[in-house]
Amino acid sequence: VETTTQETLTSRVELLLRPLREGALPRPWRFAEYETEQGVTLRLHAPGRALVVELEAADADRPCFARTERFNVYYSVVGRPSSEPLRREELGALEAVVKVLREREGMLPASETEPVASRRMLVREVRVDRALVQEGPAAYYMNPYVGCMYACPFCYAAHRADFSRSLEGAPIAPWGRWLDVKVNLAEVLEREVATRKPGTVRMSPIITDPYQPVERRFRITRACLEVLAKARFTPVVLTRSPLVLDDLELLRSMDPGPLIGMSIPTDDDAVRAAIEPDTEPVDARFDALAKLREAGLRTFAILQPMLPLDPDRMAARLAPVVEAVRIGPLYEKPRIAQRLTVLGREDILEESWERATFEALRERLEARGVIVNGREEPWSLLT
Ligand code: SF4
Repeated sequence: VETTTQETLTSRVELLLRPLREGALPRPWRFAEYETEQGVTLRLHAPGRALVVELEAADADRPCFARTERFNVYYSVVGRPSSEPLRREELGALEAVVKVLREREGMLPASETEPVASRRMLVREVRVDRALVQEGPAAYYMNPYVGCMYACPFCYAAHRADFSRSLEGAPIAPWGRWLDVKVNLAEVLEREVATRKPGTVRMSPIITDPYQPVERRFRITRACLEVLAKARFTPVVLTRSPLVLDDLELLRSMDPGPLIGMSIPTDDDAVRAAIEPDTEPVDARFDALAKLREAGLRTFAILQPMLPLDPDRMAARLAPVVEAVRIGPLYEKPRIAQRLTVLGREDILEESWERATFEALRERLEARGVIVNGREEPWSLLT
């Protein structure tokens, strides 16, 4: 493990986009904010309207609004279906963004590449200037780390996180072999919660797990939970690791109480070992949920993606330890096809398997009083 300190991606993106803050957008548009951990997302505001612009790695095979040397540019108009055509001034705002990108993308560094065979784990300590990302009224998310040592091959955040990293000029290592540790996050969070309306804080929806194997060394997640507890915000913690039990007492003391979730895509540890070998055994995850529940905490499980599993056994093990379950499909099918072939379980790549397994699980879990893919608060937060 190498530990270095580097400036954050935000300073690069600030520099890239500076003209948008300084008048490059046509009236009445203004550059409201941006987010950089899952690709780059910009928000442009005009009275009563908002445009979301997403930048991803340039890829000639994917249709997009515009392509520059480094970026595919996508957009959506908040609150309007994508089928509705752009109005003239919205088009003008998007064209201004593309012009700035074309003029300034040469300022971004080229990224280095780590040899794919390397087993070196690249850990950086990074200092950030923002903690919470707002995702609704009194609803936020936050990532204590970026990157993930659990290295799930189906992780659909991987290419977006890798892209953000490439913009920074940081060495590109295979997913699972790099991790940014936000060493000053709790400090920044403390300042932010003093001025924000208390609400829910999801940790971490994607691109990392808040209980990385190095959490015992850095205690970033714990420090943030302490800040949230003091400010009476409500964490919604999602992890694959029983390390969450290290914070059991703290979590139990929180008011309002947190929601704690465990990702358990299979009930068969041989499947887990074949498909996500760097993660904790399945039994340890069920045990952790049982301990959290015994402590009186509200718990949930995420079964997304569903890997080969026995619906009867899974439902019987989950029902006593969770209130709600979110079940979802596998998005990155080609990434695990080979591992499934070794297991003789390519059948799970079929939509018919997903549908049948979902129905079997839903029926068995609901019969035991578990909410499945609930749309009512607080379970809508799981989506
Ligand atoms: S634990 Fe979550 S964030 Fe980490 S690799 Fe797996 S799916 Fe991705």
